Amino acid sequence: MANKNLKISIAHLYPKLLNLYGDVGNVITLRKRCIWRGIDVEFEEINLSDDIKEHDLYFIGGGQDKQQRDVAKELLKNKNNLLTQRDEGAVFLAICGGYQLFGHYYQPHNAERLEGISLLDAYTVAGNKRFIGNVTAQTSLVEPNTLVGFENHSGLTYLKGDTKPLAYVLAGSGNNGKDKTEGAYYKNVFGTYLHGSFLPKNPAFADFLIELALEKRYGEKIVLEKLDDAIENITHQNLTGKAY
Ligand code: GLN
Repeated sequence: MANKNLKISIAHLYPKLLNLYGDVGNVITLRKRCIWRGIDVEFEEINLSDDIKEHDLYFIGGGQDKQQRDVAKELLKNKNNLLTQRDEGAVFLAICGGYQLFGHYYQPHNAERLEGISLLDAYTVAGNKRFIGNVTAQTSLVEPNTLVGFENHSGLTYLKGDTKPLAYVLAGSGNNGKDKTEGAYYKNVFGTYLHGSFLPKNPAFADFLIELALEKRYGEKIVLEKLDDAIENITHQNLTGKAY
């Protein structure tokens, strides 16, 4: 199926609270890379107390512990709905603080534990140091097989069960600075610690998510037309291998 006359629906979860380091750039990238191909995008911003409707793709950004506390309560109200969406193939991208809330819980320093919604079989506990700096990680999901971005978190995330690492750290810290994993995925739920924002510097992964969202909506694999990613690829290369 060519890219014309296609549509996907995208929801941005709690952008007024979780948008650290311009994580909204991920949603801008997804929308632009669809529009540039003539794919229609239905977009919805979800704020506190809004119902979360069915979408093909959901995005949630990162944030400080305080904002995470407010969002955690809202996500829990929608837990069963989002678990159903996950099991029906919806695509999720969660960055850092949002990623932590997609696991079973996030235990901050000297504060109440934040219950997650268990889209991922993972948990996070605050560590004693802050991981801040550039990250390069190797993934098997896209070509080129590197993901680049910027991390700033004290949370240490550990993966369990069928939840797999999104990538393996080549430079930087990743999930916990110990097991060399970065991010996670299960079904079409993807989490990463990479801010930056993430997708503008990793166009292949942006297209990977769009193709998954189209497959969820249309029930068949749809290959996206290639875009001229010369500028994005120069940025990606310039960041590759850069540590702190
Ligand atoms: N507050 C969380 C932490 O410090 C998440 C931070 C973030 O989203 N960058 O680990």
